Amino acid sequence: MVLNAKKDLIGLSREELREELSSLGEKPFRVKQLWQWIYNKGETDFAKMSSLPAATRDKLSEGYQVSRPQIVKEQTSVDRTRKWLLGFADGEKVESVYIPEEDRGAVCISTQVGCAVGCKFCHTGSQKFMRNLSAGEIVSQFMVARDSYGEWPTPAGEPRYLSNIVLMGMGEPLLNFANVSKALKIIMDEEGICMSRRRITLSTAGIAPKIPQVASEIGVKLAISLHASNNEVRNQIMPINRKYPLEEVISACREFRRLAGPRQHITFEYLMLDGINDKDSHAKELISLVAGIGAKFNLIPFNEWPGCPYKSSPPERVKHFSSILQKAGFAAPVRVARGQDILAACGQLKSKFSV
Ligand code: SF4
Repeated sequence: MVLNAKKDLIGLSREELREELSSLGEKPFRVKQLWQWIYNKGETDFAKMSSLPAATRDKLSEGYQVSRPQIVKEQTSVDRTRKWLLGFADGEKVESVYIPEEDRGAVCISTQVGCAVGCKFCHTGSQKFMRNLSAGEIVSQFMVARDSYGEWPTPAGEPRYLSNIVLMGMGEPLLNFANVSKALKIIMDEEGICMSRRRITLSTAGIAPKIPQVASEIGVKLAISLHASNNEVRNQIMPINRKYPLEEVISACREFRRLAGPRQHITFEYLMLDGINDKDSHAKELISLVAGIGAKFNLIPFNEWPGCPYKSSPPERVKHFSSILQKAGFAAPVRVARGQDILAACGQLKSKFSV
């Protein structure tokens, strides 16, 4: 068996790239050129990197590669949502999704293979945790999406078809903090993919000690998968709440706001589960819970998946719940489900295509 010993350049920081080039006897200014070929132009073939000398290209080809995960399967929903099942070198797989709007859209990225958090309503949570994704595996999901829509080189400004990134796919990003942080710094680099921090949202189930670091070390927007207004209900549907109860999560959110600045709102994601968390009393508890945080809510009708134990609240109940929050001064839009026919909606991802 012939092993591919070439080192992948995707996911290396600029400093690490400089070290690799230096080991080949290349000058530091080549880092910027190579970085732009990889992340601004999306080029994977060293031979086509025409601003590099032929000798440099040859040396790079001998020992390195600029790869993408294998697209095991691609599906496009009737509403144009697109989902990829991506395979990595060790055979592990994750899903990524593109959710298009009129002239822009968000790429939903995974951060782990499986998830150890085990939220009861989540399809991913029913799958065993296998491993963290590397920074390169996180960045390359976005690059696959750009390949798919041909959005290379990085558009100079707006509009961009792939305009936003949400870390809401498989896995808990804050349990893979170092790789997520490194990947997002690569994605935000102005000479490459150049995604504004204001267009990236990291969503967490509430790993309280890490929440302030999202503001201090990464600087992207924060969403909390809240889904309950008190510990009793949250313990029932999100076992992580026993480790980090609501008081700790909310206190960490206040610290995030202090570090991120008063204009940085936090989005609280709230799945509407029939008979579980959708009573008027729950809405009132929520209002007291997040008072003074600068919060907005995102109400999500539950996307059912095969074998799930919950049902979505009826539409009129969701509307009523939203109106209670709105009367108290909070934005509380109801998210329109996307890609349900290909199990690409929120909470439905898994690393085996089941449609
Ligand atoms: S909702 Fe997120 S944190 Fe919870 S089990 Fe699913 S992937 Fe993991």
